[in-house]
Amino acid sequence: MSCTCAWARRGAQFPCPTCGRSCKAHDFKEMTWRHLNFFQHHCYLTAPVPRVNCPDHGVKRIQVPWAREGSSFTVLFEQAALALVREMPVAAAARQMAVTDKRLWRVVLFYVHRAVARMDRCRGHPASELVEKLRHYAEPAVYQALWPRGQPRTISAVI
Ligand SMILES: [Zn+2]
Repeated sequence: MSCTCAWARRGAQFPCPTCGRSCKAHDFKEMTWRHLNFFQHHCYLTAPVPRVNCPDHGVKRIQVPWAREGSSFTVLFEQAALALVREMPVAAAARQMAVTDKRLWRVVLFYVHRAVARMDRCRGHPASELVEKLRHYAEPAVYQALWPRGQPRTISAVI
């Protein structure tokens, strides 16, 4: 199933992703994201995404509110996938979501790295030693095995 979103119109103005100044659309590129299933059918969202021509920053593609930059999934799809990853191995979650485990790992690692970066900003936090260990591992199952008993499970909560 495919949904087409006509949210961006020619002649409309959009904020520059760098400075926020309202600029005219320079051009459009049709992009597609995998969204949550519609009943048992895979659902894809397609929309024209403009690039703006900012006088200060040049031509830049705007960020859509329903997907993070560089992802081919909507935020809601990623949220559902991460909820599954909290409960089962990534390969099993990938089968449930009908995506390859490699693609799901990219999503998981994006959010894990973002969580670790946020924890980095909290030097002196009781979990900072664990953050150093996390840098050397890629699988949340490993993270959980390393997590000291009784410590807050911040990364698990982020995922
Ligand atoms: Zn700008």
